[in-house]
Amino acid sequence: MEKVAIIGTGCAGLTAALYAARAKLSPLVLTGTMPGGLLTTTSIVENFPGFPEGMDGYELMTRMQKQAERFGARVKFGTVEAVDLSKRPFTLTVDGEKVETQTIIIASGASHRHLDLESEKLLETKGVTYCATCDGALPIFRDQPLVVVGGGDSACEEATYLTRFSSTIYLVHRRDTLRASKIMADRTLSNPKIKPIWDSVVTEILDVKQDKVIGVRLKNVRTNKESVMDCAGVFVAIGHLPNTQLFKGVIDMDDAGYIIPARGMETNVPGVFVAGEYAYMDFRFVFPRVGCLIVGYEKAARSGEASQQRDEHPHQTEHRREREIAGQNRHPFF
Ligand code: NAP
Repeated sequence: MEKVAIIGTGCAGLTAALYAARAKLSPLVLTGTMPGGLLTTTSIVENFPGFPEGMDGYELMTRMQKQAERFGARVKFGTVEAVDLSKRPFTLTVDGEKVETQTIIIASGASHRHLDLESEKLLETKGVTYCATCDGALPIFRDQPLVVVGGGDSACEEATYLTRFSSTIYLVHRRDTLRASKIMADRTLSNPKIKPIWDSVVTEILDVKQDKVIGVRLKNVRTNKESVMDCAGVFVAIGHLPNTQLFKGVIDMDDAGYIIPARGMETNVPGVFVAGEYAYMDFRFVFPRVGCLIVGYEKAARSGEASQQRDEHPHQTEHRREREIAGQNRHPFF
């Protein structure tokens, strides 16, 4: 039986793995379908402390994994298909196999949000993409006009990256100001290759009949005027959706699927902790993820030890919980 199973190998999951491994808990870390998480698709990460020149996202995640493994974390390629949190030990079904574990840290991250257009679905991988770093260098996009949709840091990053391959990037945003951080917004808007298209949404990606992207149909949300713009690729960068569907109905979450921790980073199910970008809407930068995670791990470790070493009467457990909630036995991070 595992002491700690960590779902996810993004920043949060691997930081949890590092701390759990150094505490000799030999955590089992389950990768999901995207080992290393979304950061592996980022070009340069500029806001991770300790790397003044920035760091390639893939390289950063590879190093994090190596560091956790060095202390005994076991990274296993596998997707959690089902969870049974009704009794301890908990049971995870990982690619058909059952894994029993005392504690779980949910660090399963988020997936790209889609525009939810029929044409978007039909033209995915045929000019519609969610990752400039992965696909930007493809020959179909070279020296062609390209559209990036979104107004956040991701959209700015995608647009800036694509200027390596094309001289005309249209940044289509539904408002007239960017949501991105000031430094990213300024850098983007001062780039002569990036042309913002304000107050506009993509209503259709053309052309499904030709089975490739040749343009987009746009609607100005202020004037309702429609227009068509030629492009060879559409890069959708409109945020992310938390990967928490597995826990729906069992773990408390808001309508958008962000888990609402009950105590610190522990969820409403004792022994199940949350770390990373879907814990709180506002914790979506790398570094806070790490901070949350450390807290998550510390609590998971204590919870695992508690359930293994103590043979408490239910009343004792109840009293201990009350003391914890009242603030005694509180960890210095809180
Ligand atoms: P985000 O900040 O949530 O921005 C999403 C953008 O997409 C917003 O501008 C939003 O418009 C727009 N949008 C959402 N749904 C849309 C729809 N259906 N149609 C059209 N537009 C839509 O997401 P993000 O840019 O992926 O960033 C996520 C987090 O990661 C942020 O905290 C960000 O700072 C961080 N991040 C940091 C870096 C970096 O520092 N290097 C890089 C990437 C991401 P509205 O503005 O109108 O809501």
